[in-house]
Amino acid sequence: MGYTPNRWGSLEQFQVPCQIIEENVLSLTPSAVATLMFFYFKAKGRYKQMLRRRLNAENEYISIVASQEELSLKTGYSSRNTFTKAVKELVAGRWLASPAQRRFKRGELNTNEYFLLDPATAQRLQTVPLSPYFTVPACIFRRHTMHWSLPFLSSAEVALYTAMLFRANQERNNTFTNDPVLLRKMSKLSRGKSGTFSRAMESLQTKGLITEDDDQITLCDPLTGEPPVAAMDAVNDPANYFTPDGDRIFFNVGNPEALLKWVRASLPAGEDMRKEGSGEYKLKCPFHPDPEPSLNFNPSKNTFHCFGCHAKGTTKKLVMGLKGISESEAIQQHARAIGVNSVFEPESDAEAECRYEDETGSLLYRVLRYPGKRFSQQRWTPEGWVHNLKGVKPTLYNLREIRYAATVIITEGEKDADRVNRLQLEDYTGRVVVATTCSGGAGSWKDRFADLLTSPCYRIPANVLPVDSRCVIVMPDSDASGGKYKEQVEASLEKRMIPHCVVTFEGFKDVSEFLDAGHTGIELAQRITNEVTKINGHGGVTYPETPLNEEISI
Ligand SMILES: [Zn+2]
Repeated sequence: MGYTPNRWGSLEQFQVPCQIIEENVLSLTPSAVATLMFFYFKAKGRYKQMLRRRLNAENEYISIVASQEELSLKTGYSSRNTFTKAVKELVAGRWLASPAQRRFKRGELNTNEYFLLDPATAQRLQTVPLSPYFTVPACIFRRHTMHWSLPFLSSAEVALYTAMLFRANQERNNTFTNDPVLLRKMSKLSRGKSGTFSRAMESLQTKGLITEDDDQITLCDPLTGEPPVAAMDAVNDPANYFTPDGDRIFFNVGNPEALLKWVRASLPAGEDMRKEGSGEYKLKCPFHPDPEPSLNFNPSKNTFHCFGCHAKGTTKKLVMGLKGISESEAIQQHARAIGVNSVFEPESDAEAECRYEDETGSLLYRVLRYPGKRFSQQRWTPEGWVHNLKGVKPTLYNLREIRYAATVIITEGEKDADRVNRLQLEDYTGRVVVATTCSGGAGSWKDRFADLLTSPCYRIPANVLPVDSRCVIVMPDSDASGGKYKEQVEASLEKRMIPHCVVTFEGFKDVSEFLDAGHTGIELAQRITNEVTKINGHGGVTYPETPLNEEISI
């Protein structure tokens, strides 16, 4: 049976068996939960190590070697007694093999080796994760000095956070219904006079581990204090921002003063906010016409909500509304607000960089392609790359080369264009065939792009060519959006009376897939020739025997 737990965006995570909660109640004390989580955190690393070394899984068990120092550092239990009790509880519940007496005694002070047991069979573990499991962000152990890491959580917070991680797993989503009765039951926290539950709830919010409103609770990426996103555009994911040293930026640094200052600096000229009780601030809502301030901002919790239009979210969203800036700009401002001067998106993660230039060769913008078909469009400014295309007029890829080419291929996407250009096909004029495209996918074709193909190529340079017009080959993807793209491009070409034809690859998604399947440049040239020679006065295309750049398979 397929198993799809909730995901944490690009955040590293590990897995903990679901048996930790039985019939919707936490089956272990908070200290045992924290200790067990730590063991599973370590188990993942150990298992990976075993796989790398190709140890014989038949007789190999996952053992966790941990020093007392490490244990107290990562769990926050400074008292040996707490830890000993937790281990006893885990052994009694058959989560952990009984440590050998001698080693156990010694291990209390120094380093010990522990063997986890499969909760279903009580056998020593050989693989992780165990199904069913729920996922836990690894940074709560890894970043053990941050205010939101496990050592900084009280017992009640550990119990409640665990219950929430479990709930997210039940819902297969980091956002789930805010059901205090259920959460109290799961975490075994009393409403009580002191309000243990409410205080733990408040504290998890203040630490940026969750956001809460009346209806829903959302687990946050602890490092950013924002809900993890499966961002289509990588620049809108705060997890993709790094310091100049290449470390991930921690936005969730527990600095409400910085957030307050940031929001204040983002207010329209002449406006201010009013301090309310309970650490909240009142200001005019940017998301609806708001003559009387009806928006509450809570810098401690990094949240706002509007009583007028019910807009809500984190400080980042509020600033985006106040300043009218994009998400990536807000992320960069947020970084500056917490004292990180320079942020950049790691280009090392990108599979490819495609640059767009104007006719003179000046850089206009670029498209970075990331694994999983994610793209980031960035415009060039003297200050560097800005993560949007504001004020930039999109153009065709390889614009300068097009002007000298008698045969131009329009593909769907830069990847296909690059692939075709690497073949260095030649046309009957002896010139290289140039493949082009527009950024942003099939829906981004603009009629005016065809104007860029009307320049008389035979005049540049001024030598004599046996053609007086250019021929364009449309090479769309073999799917519905490809069909639409083809129609749009053809319509633009027809309007300008640019000779054109279409080459498709039935049975293949696109030209790249056609070539990946083992078809050669010669075969591609033949297919193109079959079509272009139907056009009056246009000759065929060849794959040169000694291409300028021998194609290198990646
Ligand atoms: Zn509002």
